[in-house]
Parts: sequence; structure tokens; C-alpha cells
Amino acid sequence: MPELPEVEFCARRLREWTTGRRIVDAQAQAGPPLRDLTPEAFAVGLRDRRIDGVERLGKQLFVRLDGDATLLVHLGMTGKFVREHRDAADRAGERARLALDDGRSLRFVDPRRFGRLRLLATPDVPLHPEIASLGEDALAVCARPGGLAAILRGRRPIKVALMDQSVLAGVGNIYASEALFAAGISPDAPAGSLTPDRADALALHLRACMLESLEREKDSEIAYLHEGGAENPFRIYGRKGEPCPACGDPVRRVEHAGRGTYFCPRCQT
Ligand code: ZN
Repeated sequence: MPELPEVEFCARRLREWTTGRRIVDAQAQAGPPLRDLTPEAFAVGLRDRRIDGVERLGKQLFVRLDGDATLLVHLGMTGKFVREHRDAADRAGERARLALDDGRSLRFVDPRRFGRLRLLATPDVPLHPEIASLGEDALAVCARPGGLAAILRGRRPIKVALMDQSVLAGVGNIYASEALFAAGISPDAPAGSLTPDRADALALHLRACMLESLEREKDSEIAYLHEGGAENPFRIYGRKGEPCPACGDPVRRVEHAGRGTYFCPRCQT
């Protein structure tokens, strides 16, 4: 499932492929990932627009178009963009495509259809409920000493707080698990109980885990764990029952807010 590094990777590729290009044709299937849009409105709204840039906040992507329009993209659970020659056959799970003026087309591929594509007037974007509710981007918060300590409050488990998009935008299950392991912090520790030093250490690890993952993505498209073939690159995530890389005890899996948390009870206190 995409988290901040995968979305940032997607933003970088899209920027490289599309900035300054014009959309000559747009097509989409009815239903998800289109939200509040018919395929006709998608086609009419995007055709003949120039792509001026691509930005990211948390897991949200903003494709800036001329004429003060923004294509708001969320990759959902399995979404990604791929670039093909304009006449290439459909990709499996393809839901939408944008033909560009360089003879290529961008395909939005999303087998499980949890992705979201919306077309908004740019001034309305910050007011959209999905955007208005977001906290600050996790990479920015974690780059600032004291940044994480300032927003972690209360008695709920730290794992749950890290994944709350209204507190910290971009962190999901994988990087919350990885960073808590790296920092030696129990996923059940109350969010507000961390000393400033421990919160800073957690921020450094969280940022490092995300940047490391971003570094690993060298191909032109994201390889998700669920697609198979990709080896699990994580130290603790997805490794239930395997030996902890630090102490050798078996890695445990519990659930927080319905999501699997992987941790080592001996190393994380
Ligand atoms: Zn351990």
C-alpha cells in the first residue's frame, strides 16, 4: 500500500514525464477511481490542458493544470501511474489514461479501485475535506527538531497517533512499524509519554526509513509488496514469527485500529 515514499516517488516520475506537456486526450472508466466525475466530465475537463507541475502533501498528489485546475490524486491501496506509448495495449487494472503531446500516454492502474481521481478548481483544493483535514507533511515535521514532540499528545498508542493523517500526513502502517522498531519504542506507548529526546530520535528514524525506501525505488514504476516478486525490504514489517534482526526473538504481530503492527517486545519498550 502506498505511503509517503511511494507517493513521493510517483510525484517525481510524474513531474519528469509531464511537466510542460499538453493533454491531448483523456479517458476513464465509469466508477472508482473517478469521484464526483463522469468519464465525459473527466475527458472534457482534462483535454487540451497543459500540466504545469506536480506537488505532494502526505499521500495526496496535486497535478497542477493551466486554467487554474488541479487533478487531485490519491493512490488508494494499489494505484500507480505508468507511462506507455500512446497506442500500447491497456494494462491490467487500467482505469484511466491521459494521452500527452509527446506521443506517450499516462495510465492510471488500480486493480483494487480504492484510488481517487478528482478534478477541482485550484483555489478550492485546500478547502476540500480530504485536504483540509490533513496535518503537516511527515518529512517536513521530522526534519525539524522538536517537530514530532510538538504534535504527539494524549494517551492513545503512539502507533495509532503516527498513522493519524490529521496529525502527520503520509505515514502508514509500514513506516510507523519500521520507525518504532528502529527507535526501540513500544507501539503501545502513549503518544504523549515520549520524552523530547525520544520523540526526536523517532523523528530521525521515521525520516530515515522513508528516505531509504525512496532511494530504493529505481525503476520507473512502484513495485508493491502485494504484487509478488518483490522481496520484502523491511526490517520488521511483514515478518511475523521471523527472528528480530536485533535480538533474534520472534517478531510479533498485533493490531492497532484494525491494522497489523509488527514489533519485537524485547527491543521495543
Ligand atoms: Zn528484538
